[in-house]
Amino acid sequence: MGYMIHKIVVASTNEGKVKEVKGVLDTLKDLEFAVESLRDYAITEPDEPYNSFLENAVHKAKYYAKHIQQPTLSDDSGLCIQPLADFPGVKTKDLVEECGTLKKAFARLAGLLKDHKKPTAYFNCAMVLYIPKTDVLIPYEAKMHGTITFPPKGTQGFGFDPIFIPEGFDQTLAELGDSVKNQISHRSKALKGLVEKLRQGL
Ligand code: IMP
Repeated sequence: MGYMIHKIVVASTNEGKVKEVKGVLDTLKDLEFAVESLRDYAITEPDEPYNSFLENAVHKAKYYAKHIQQPTLSDDSGLCIQPLADFPGVKTKDLVEECGTLKKAFARLAGLLKDHKKPTAYFNCAMVLYIPKTDVLIPYEAKMHGTITFPPKGTQGFGFDPIFIPEGFDQTLAELGDSVKNQISHRSKALKGLVEKLRQGL
């Protein structure tokens, strides 16, 4: 027996994430709830104070739920590059902000990786649904493994997609596009796992 909810709010100001989450939910049959985005709510973005994806995702979901008073879905995600001890990881957003642009962040990583051939990496996504009325929290965390490549290639997706080649492919996520990404991504796996838990009331 699953949890009875009528709608969820996809609580992110990152348009790329919101598009992907909605794209994946659209592929799931018989959804029991409506899906809304933050667009109708004027809420200041929360901070991301923790050193783990899951803690930040819980923090964001609860923060938005407090304002919205609706079941709230949030994710915290990032790129972990294995030869760099999983850098930038939970600080991926900070790296982009520090560098100023994604192009500069790619250049910074290219410099750090200049002695590495085909560095392995993974994207991590901690997805959390928080239901404020019943104080229920449903978490699900997932990864997508691959390698880093330079120069960046492709125009689709967002963030670090142009420098990431998923395992089993020879093009970047930004070349492969949304329909492929939504079948294999960290975000899609986390979301599907979470919806399954929601349905089963786990
Ligand atoms: P946060 O989850 O808001 O901390 O942001 C994580 C950052 O990681 C994003 O702004 C992107 O730069 C990057 N990121 C997270 N998921 C993806 C993805 O699916 N593709 C490319 N970059 C991503």
